[in-house]
Amino acid sequence: MSENSNWKTRGDKVFIGTYSRFPAAMVRGEGCRLWDADGREYLDFLAGIAVCSLGHCHPAVTEAVCRQAGTLMHVSNLFYTAPQIELAELLTAHSFADKVFMANSGAEANEAALKLARIHSGPGRYEVISLTGSFHGRTLATVAATGQPRFHQGFEPLPHGFVHAEFGEMESLERLIGDRTCAIMCEPLQGESGVRPLEPEYLAAIRKLCDRHNLLLIFDEVQTGMGRTGTLFAYEQLGVTPDILTLAKAMGNGLPIGVMLTREDIAASLTVGTHASTFGGNPVAAAAGVAVLKLMLADGFLAGVREKGEYLAGRLADVARRFPALASGVRGRGLLLGLVLTEKGREQGPAIVQGMFEQGVLINFAGNSVLRFIPPLIVSREETDRMIAALVHVLGGLA
Ligand SMILES: *Cc1c(COP(=O)(O)O)cnc(C)c1O
Repeated sequence: MSENSNWKTRGDKVFIGTYSRFPAAMVRGEGCRLWDADGREYLDFLAGIAVCSLGHCHPAVTEAVCRQAGTLMHVSNLFYTAPQIELAELLTAHSFADKVFMANSGAEANEAALKLARIHSGPGRYEVISLTGSFHGRTLATVAATGQPRFHQGFEPLPHGFVHAEFGEMESLERLIGDRTCAIMCEPLQGESGVRPLEPEYLAAIRKLCDRHNLLLIFDEVQTGMGRTGTLFAYEQLGVTPDILTLAKAMGNGLPIGVMLTREDIAASLTVGTHASTFGGNPVAAAAGVAVLKLMLADGFLAGVREKGEYLAGRLADVARRFPALASGVRGRGLLLGLVLTEKGREQGPAIVQGMFEQGVLINFAGNSVLRFIPPLIVSREETDRMIAALVHVLGGLA
């Protein structure tokens, strides 16, 4: 029996079955590469679901984490700590925001945003409008905000105060605004439901609607933030500034951390005792965040992401042209890209991902519509070329 299948057997016996996993137990990572328990090497175009953006075990992040873990691991938010303050200073210096709340995950950052929107808007104004196809997390409130019925099934009744407007349609959004509405929440580019960008004109119209009706605009940049789309935050290149911004995935390069950012006037609504997290902004996770931000803000890093993204998008467009029966085009921004599959291609989605896995390349099938490519932001041309060669091989076997 291989080491992998041994771990699989043991894991399946003890874990609640909420995940469908690749049949591999990962033991080590470096840059864009992973190794499993049998010593097999993988080229990683998933990056722990858009998390390990600086590559696995980036030396500067590992060093910061180890140093902090050997100095002070946790004290709670009853005290100040230097890493947490440094991280908040970096985030506010490089965004529209003045104030930060720290949590441990994307869903928790969004929970904080939803609570802030309600308390800030006052009694009776509590309803949040989000979009169909959105993904905001798996807690009860964030799953209620998530505009995909398949995530709701079996968990009803969901917390009320969440309604969903049709993706891309302004009339649908306007129709839902009423006396109870306090906020509109969206991802500038929907990741989980198939790498679906919101057009800048659409986002500008949403911003206008929020201003006209005195609603807060919440951008969930848990996936698009932290350099993924080629700017530190996606909103910077879309010409629309939100009132509240949430971040998580890539912030700790693998350590769990999530943050909610907002302006001072809005933040003032959350006073002592209104919200809290025991671990939020933990010194070790925050030290990782500081190291990540410093690396991403270094000269040329974000320009490099844009350049790498253009290269990957170009190579994927070639693949789409070569296999028109399976793929119809490419969409996304920066290094959050999707190869859009045709109806025939969609049927093969899981088989393509499996075929790539057998070739030693990790990708996934998102929203039952695209192959999603979210490599570490340090991916090289040579690594992109190797991934493309594997993709051509796998698609060639199906066409
Ligand atoms: C992943 C994701 C979340 C949830 O983050 P967790 O850390 O899994 O709770 C929320 N919103 C978006 C856009 C995401 O991609």
